[in-house]
Amino acid sequence: MNEKAVLFTIFGATGDLAKRKLYPSLFRLYKKGELAEHFAVIGTARRPWTNEFLREVVTSSIQDLIEDESQAENFASHFYYQSHDVEDTSHYVTLKNLGEELKAKYNTLGNQLFYLAMAPQFFGTIVGHLRSEEILTGEGFERLIIEKPFGSDYESAKKLNDELSCVFDEENIFRIDHYLGKEMIQNVTAVRFANHIFESIWNNKYIDNVQITFAESIGVEDRGGYYETSGALKDMVQNHILQVLSLLAMEPPTTFSDEEIRNEKVKALKAIRKYTEEEALDSFIAGQYVAGSIDGEEFVGYLEEPNVAKNSRTETFACGKFMIDNFRWSGVPFYVRTGKRMVEKGTRINVVFKQMPVDLFNNNQNTLAPNILTIYIQPTEGFSLSVNGKEIGQGFTIEPIKLSYRHNSAFLGNSPEAYEKLILDALNGERTNFSDWGEVARSWELIDVIRSAWDKNPKELATYKARTMGPKESYELLEKDGRSWAWKP
Ligand code: NAD
Repeated sequence: MNEKAVLFTIFGATGDLAKRKLYPSLFRLYKKGELAEHFAVIGTARRPWTNEFLREVVTSSIQDLIEDESQAENFASHFYYQSHDVEDTSHYVTLKNLGEELKAKYNTLGNQLFYLAMAPQFFGTIVGHLRSEEILTGEGFERLIIEKPFGSDYESAKKLNDELSCVFDEENIFRIDHYLGKEMIQNVTAVRFANHIFESIWNNKYIDNVQITFAESIGVEDRGGYYETSGALKDMVQNHILQVLSLLAMEPPTTFSDEEIRNEKVKALKAIRKYTEEEALDSFIAGQYVAGSIDGEEFVGYLEEPNVAKNSRTETFACGKFMIDNFRWSGVPFYVRTGKRMVEKGTRINVVFKQMPVDLFNNNQNTLAPNILTIYIQPTEGFSLSVNGKEIGQGFTIEPIKLSYRHNSAFLGNSPEAYEKLILDALNGERTNFSDWGEVARSWELIDVIRSAWDKNPKELATYKARTMGPKESYELLEKDGRSWAWKP
């Protein structure tokens, strides 16, 4: 295997993301030999840590993955800490010197990957200094990884993007949407483009509707402060859900290259109908959880959560209907829903096929269940396909049968962690599983209308009891179209 030569600089190295995701992912890559001798990591943040302390933190964050102590020690020895206030120019000079020293020591060939694990308000300042203080030298590859949120509306996203694109070309900006790193999300393209039985009927002639559910069982926990500024629409629909929707709806790319796939995704997003505010109010519902219980366990309502305003109108649930105005999808609704404190944690896609034109078995009264292809994304991964068969025995009763392939990837240990996959992709310059600016921009255009319609028409939020599948209005949205959610609790 070719190990990757690279110097990582992680801004925000003392933070939650670094400890929970980045260090373990780098260690997994190290265990697989993707990183070996020729890499180093500079961790920077405000706290006055030392190299030794950072190495201790790194070692404790990978505890569950260690099989060989000396391997873990060697891995941690590649980490260096630099205390740094991102607004202080002189600190970038120190950072540059340390980077040069490590480049020579580990022979990293001038390749650099900058990971901004910090609040987006600092991104412009950081990248500006990377250029002005000549940390960017153009010697090897120089790539930037950033985390969502990519702005809070189209305007702020554009401003952020303008700041970044002054310094990095689009092809060197890797916007992480960690859902895109998940095995089964990537499998959506395999299901479609490796199976003639599906791709040949992947259109409005055979598909009645598509449903995407991103359910969380947890509440806002200690993130009330952040969530109050976001809500379900911006936190989940703008990014994860629209990304998945575009993978389901895009045309087949001419080759399986990141550029072709991205072009097709952007085209699909552009074909999504941009609603007027009136249409948005008709097609989207905001909800908030109130106290509820499940299996004897009690849960408080959103308004009683810490750091949440007592009269907060932040939605913890959003659902709605997108329409795609192109030849393939005209007339096929894409229903989406996401929320906190729902019955269980689960991300699922249900592709509901049209019913048979006649029901031979019931005097042509159509009671046949539709075929449904379900793609399970997490916590279990897999598919199921419901088909109709004859119930064994006398008579001729038709019953739906589920063909199912599901496994718990974490349990089987065969599915790399999303961050591990994405960091490796960034090292390889492979951009398929990252969000491109065109996608981010279009997503905000679609979402801004819905947000603005909700803000201008402050009606009562729909409420739902904690640990249910959302408010009754969510069911009514589909009922008025003569449909229902395929995933019922
Ligand atoms: P955090 O608050 O735990 O960490 C922030 C880091 O930034 C700390 O290391 C802090 O020292 C550093 N920092 C803050 N101000 C600084 C300054 N002026 N100079 C130098 N360093 C400074 O945040 P986090 O949870 O690690 O998240 C980081 C980013 O990733 C955020 O943008 C967040 O929205 C995003 N994100 C995080 C997660 C997650 O799982 N934690 C998931 C998705 C996205």
